[in-house]
Amino acid sequence: MAAKPKIAFFDFAGCEGDQLQVANLEEKLLDILEHVEVVSFREVHTGHSDNYDIAFVEGSITRPQDEARLKEIRANAKVLVALGACATIGGVNCIKNFLGRDVYSENVYGTRARWYPTYEARPLKAVVKVDVEIHGCPIDRGEFARIVKEMLLGRVPWLPDYPVCVECKKAGNVCRYHLGRMCLGIITRAGCNACCVTEGAQCWGCRGLAPSANLDAAREVMDQHGFDRKHVQDLMRFFLGDTSAPL
Ligand code: SF4
Ligand code: SF4
Ligand code: SF4
Repeated sequence: MAAKPKIAFFDFAGCEGDQLQVANLEEKLLDILEHVEVVSFREVHTGHSDNYDIAFVEGSITRPQDEARLKEIRANAKVLVALGACATIGGVNCIKNFLGRDVYSENVYGTRARWYPTYEARPLKAVVKVDVEIHGCPIDRGEFARIVKEMLLGRVPWLPDYPVCVECKKAGNVCRYHLGRMCLGIITRAGCNACCVTEGAQCWGCRGLAPSANLDAAREVMDQHGFDRKHVQDLMRFFLGDTSAPL
């Protein structure tokens, strides 16, 4: 890779909240900019070049024409980074996959649905090879800065492979199951410091399944606390719809 790698940002179906997180890095962004050249970042500046080394790609693939564009980005980039839950695991866009194509097309486009071909949402890795994943909805700014630094040093970026519960315990939270609520932290990849639980909510699974997730044990915990399959599925489909985890 060049001494000062060229980086570019792209987006597909998503809210662009992850790029906003990058734009809001403030002084850390200035540090990063000393070591890279940004050739495309629509949220921050005008101009575009197809000459880039690292492509940061946000959003899910939801249309046939998205696939061609993503393959072109892949062909141009030495490293392709999936940015945020929509890109890494399909994320909230996958909710539509459970509705049926006619239903979601008509809900969004009404009588003009046939003019806008759209299909089931999928993560980037369903279409092209992804080199690095930055998880979350939205991504964590500090984690983004750390991962970029590791990439620039030529390292494979580290990601926690254990579940959110580990960080939740460290934070001293009362487990939501003890409060009669369901929580997907038991199967979700850590790295967010269990922020949603700490703030009084539960984990929805936005960082994807932890590689070490024990789905059988999770199902047992959910059963013991009286959560039926419909309840589990509803929560799973919020972010983890594309994983087909058999809960
Ligand atoms: S992962 Fe979340 S923040 Fe990022 S584009 Fe999707 S909905 Fe927006
Ligand atoms: S509240 Fe959720 S993340 Fe925290 S320990 Fe319980 S299951 Fe794990
Ligand atoms: S607690 Fe769960 S939903 Fe919240 S940021 Fe962490 S992984 Fe995402």
